[in-house]
Amino acid sequence: MQGGSSMLQNPIEYLKGVGPLKGDLLRKELNIFRFEDLLYHFPIRHIDRTKINTIKEITPATEYVQLSGKITFHEMLGQGRAKRLVAEFRDSTGIIELVWFQGANWVAKLLEKSALWLIYGKVSFFNGKAQMSHPEMELAESQDPAAKAFLEPIYPSTEKLKARGLSGRQIGKLTLPLIQMLSEKELPENIPEAICQSLQLMPRFQAYCYIHYPPDEATFKQALRRLKFEELFIAQVRLNLIRIRRGRHSKGILFDKVGDFFNTFYEKHLPFTLTGAQKRVLKEIRQDTARGHQMNRLLQGDVGSGKTIVALLSMLLAADNGYQSCLMAPTEILATQHYTGLSALLKDLPITLRLLTGSTKTKERRQIFSGLAEGTIQIVIGTHAIIEDKVVFKNLGLAIVDEQHRFGVAQRAKLWQKSVIPPHILVMTATPIPRTLAMTAYGDLDYSVMDELPPGRQPITTLHRTDIYRMKVMRFMRSEIDKGRQAYVIYPLIEESEKLSYEDLMQGYEQVKSYFPEHLYKISMVHGRMPPEQKEMNMQRFVNGDTQIMVSTTVIEVGVNVPNASVMVIESAEKFGLSQLHQLRGRVGRGSEKSYCILLTSNKLSEDGKQRLAIMCATNDGFKIAEKDLELRGPGDIEGTRQSGALNLKLADLVADQEILLVAKKLATQLVEADEKLELPQNMMLRTFLMQTMGKTAWSKIS
Ligand code: ADP
Ligand code: MG
Repeated sequence: MQGGSSMLQNPIEYLKGVGPLKGDLLRKELNIFRFEDLLYHFPIRHIDRTKINTIKEITPATEYVQLSGKITFHEMLGQGRAKRLVAEFRDSTGIIELVWFQGANWVAKLLEKSALWLIYGKVSFFNGKAQMSHPEMELAESQDPAAKAFLEPIYPSTEKLKARGLSGRQIGKLTLPLIQMLSEKELPENIPEAICQSLQLMPRFQAYCYIHYPPDEATFKQALRRLKFEELFIAQVRLNLIRIRRGRHSKGILFDKVGDFFNTFYEKHLPFTLTGAQKRVLKEIRQDTARGHQMNRLLQGDVGSGKTIVALLSMLLAADNGYQSCLMAPTEILATQHYTGLSALLKDLPITLRLLTGSTKTKERRQIFSGLAEGTIQIVIGTHAIIEDKVVFKNLGLAIVDEQHRFGVAQRAKLWQKSVIPPHILVMTATPIPRTLAMTAYGDLDYSVMDELPPGRQPITTLHRTDIYRMKVMRFMRSEIDKGRQAYVIYPLIEESEKLSYEDLMQGYEQVKSYFPEHLYKISMVHGRMPPEQKEMNMQRFVNGDTQIMVSTTVIEVGVNVPNASVMVIESAEKFGLSQLHQLRGRVGRGSEKSYCILLTSNKLSEDGKQRLAIMCATNDGFKIAEKDLELRGPGDIEGTRQSGALNLKLADLVADQEILLVAKKLATQLVEADEKLELPQNMMLRTFLMQTMGKTAWSKIS
């Protein structure tokens, strides 16, 4: 990270105490290649050995203590597995019992010596007596042993490393000489002085020393705060630089008029009144596209909030200005559904739209290609087939990407190249990315939220039931179906063992069939192993209402819209993540009927699993659920952020450190807006740091 020819760039095996063998292990096990990687390998905790306690001080509330004293007596008790070594440890204030269950013989030999010991460990109470098992022991060097000057760091380690003499504690034997060698030269300040002062940040060099070896808890906290701030601040500066540069350099297509397509549709064919949120987002899109810059917007709207109509109206806006547009969906099912739905809405307008997917036949495909190249097709809806190189547009003005928040920078860039002036881009997602995360991971996109559902929706009732109630659940499902509604039964798709989930699904299908006799009920089934046409057909039958029940794996997860479906039963619900459960549940509650989501599980559940299900039952609010998800799993696991590459946080926690993040964001934005080339003298250090860490080429692209 440091760049340049700093000592921190040295290969790790050259560090005192490492050598080729341990060097190899550190590389393989912890990705520690250079000195600096070890510096960034932060302790997971510290143990306080700066004080020597007395036995008299110990109370039932005491946790770890360090004592200095003598072993006055020891004996071996018990037989075989129950064998243990018990010793009496005395200082000038009292007696405490020490116990060893493992290595008893070896320890007993050690204790033969009459010596002054320094012991450290966790106190427990046994029959009212203080006791310590397996204390750490070392010989005190003098009658009056000195405590350590620093808290002792314990590092993340692995089983392999532990076996080769690099336990979490032993790694400290490597970091200490490293820290002692460092000077301010290797770790110069990178945050402008004014900010350091106003936030009272510890200088960078000190912070690195003290995060490893702090003299006390308070100093450690200061070091941690400084480094977390640095991490978030630098990330925000980079995102701001990228955003500003794009705004400055990317000329955008101008949609400056609202014409007949938009107006006629809005006045005559819109099947409902837009919600306030839909209107607001449309306004944002119109402002974006009318200012001469390229739009890059992320639209987050909870499941069922009505993103499709926003997409449609935006595409009509493009058509009014003489431009083509495309709408891209992640699956064929979804693309087809969009195509069918939008064609119906647009049937009275003189506009041509076509569907392009992987299974479009060659002849039709050729027609579509030439129609797009000549400009006779204004709107194309489809899958990734749309961004293939063969697809050439006459004048693509707007590209909408539905339900693919994973649509990364590289893929967006592919869309930009479809047009001389890059088209406006709108990425729509129902995955409620928590605000803090969006700010960090998608800081280069503008960001809209639709936080309002169309009127008349009834909240979905979510219930958790264990397997023994399956009969009852099926009866309930039947009563709903008998009222004319439809139902989903969902099975988990476990990536690692697709075979297993396939068998589960088949078994489930048979089971559902046994509850719902064939002459009375029709069942659709969709799973990942089916050929696309068959999937399509089954799905379509359910959409049309020809089947009442849809048994499926999670392939129906995104986007599908069957408003008449009012029950969803999720089998083995504990196997799903929170956000995924929420996505699934969003398939019901799309009409005006009361809807239900029933989470079936066995009665053996982990704490984590219980919490997730409880949250699902307690709220329908996608944002709350996403926050919880982030809390339970950490940002690395949230779908989409893993691949984003923008999140490379080692210390900061996006939930716990929201306050620091907000301050970092504010200051970074101010700084970049005031000095977008980082030329002011007070920003020199920051500029140097960015150039070194990003490499000159990357830097030249954003500066
Ligand atoms: P999503 O945001 O999940 O993509 P959709 O666009 O599929 O949601 O909309 C969900 C359902 O809500 C559709 O049946 C759609 O016709 C309906 N809908 C969308 N906007 C409104 C509105 N303003 N009033 C009433 N119904 C609406
Ligand atoms: Mg949708």
